Amino acid sequence: MKRIFSYREETKAGTLFLVATPIGNLQDMTFRAVEVLRQSAVIAAEDTRQTRKLMSYFHIEGPRLISYHEYNKQRAAAEILAMLEQGLAVSLVSDAGTPGISDPGEDIVRAAVVRGYRVVPIPGACAGIAALVASGLPTGQFSFVGFLPRVSKDRKRELERWNRQRETLVFYEAPHRLRETVNDLLDVLGDRQVTVARELTKRYEEFARGTLSELAELLQTEPAKGEYVLVVAGAGEAAADGPDEVWWANLTAAAHVERLVMQGMSKKEAVKQAAKDRGVPKRDVYNQVLAQEQENH
Ligand code: SAM
Repeated sequence: MKRIFSYREETKAGTLFLVATPIGNLQDMTFRAVEVLRQSAVIAAEDTRQTRKLMSYFHIEGPRLISYHEYNKQRAAAEILAMLEQGLAVSLVSDAGTPGISDPGEDIVRAAVVRGYRVVPIPGACAGIAALVASGLPTGQFSFVGFLPRVSKDRKRELERWNRQRETLVFYEAPHRLRETVNDLLDVLGDRQVTVARELTKRYEEFARGTLSELAELLQTEPAKGEYVLVVAGAGEAAADGPDEVWWANLTAAAHVERLVMQGMSKKEAVKQAAKDRGVPKRDVYNQVLAQEQENH
């Protein structure tokens, strides 16, 4: 076990800070992120133009800005490691959100960890987590899948791997590939519940909740525009080995219906579905929903 304390001054080596930045709304920048950036000797940025704007907005004036992106990451990593060796504080920021989540940050973190430097996260916005928590789908267990392969054949093969997973699945996708990806999700995973989170924290933020087939239909007429996270329901009942393992096992019938409604069903459809899931008459589920509603008033 190799132990490194983030806030003990026992080493002269530098620190690599992983600084989360906003995914749209600049007010999501944390006080700590501004402070750490101000005190860094160097900021390594995925997109220096974007980061320069952020620095100017928050009056971050001291640090030197260098570029660290997918196409220069080997050369830039050598430079960053040399600065850490000199005892400097280096902050890594990505285009938006949390560095290391679906961006090149992962590699420099691994290199710094292997060499024994301190790596300190400064948490903040992350599109996948923001989408998941507002999705209305179960959050107790989830898998972050991120971007799928670009070629449909590879994408479908990758999706087969997730097909029987019971937990909620979180995907990132570029707008110009969204339609194709949704069609492949539908083909491989079947017609599951989905929440599409678009333009999170921005002016046109939108959550569309429904089924994958409804989404595929919507995308036929409405071209994708902006940034998207797809949150897809896990395999749930289909892959469960027994009644204790279905997603609604710990919910009352009324809560079961409420969850389905949050996922986009009408109340009538949700009552019917919950009754079917539970193998009980619709009337029983409906009575429990009514009782719950009366209790809430
Ligand atoms: N590191 C980032 C994070 O913490 O979320 C993710 C970077 S990844 C290169 C970019 C992808 O994140 C986009 O294609 C989109 O899927 C998702 N994303 C980023 N910002 C978003 C936003 N404001 N709304 C919806 N999705 C967003």
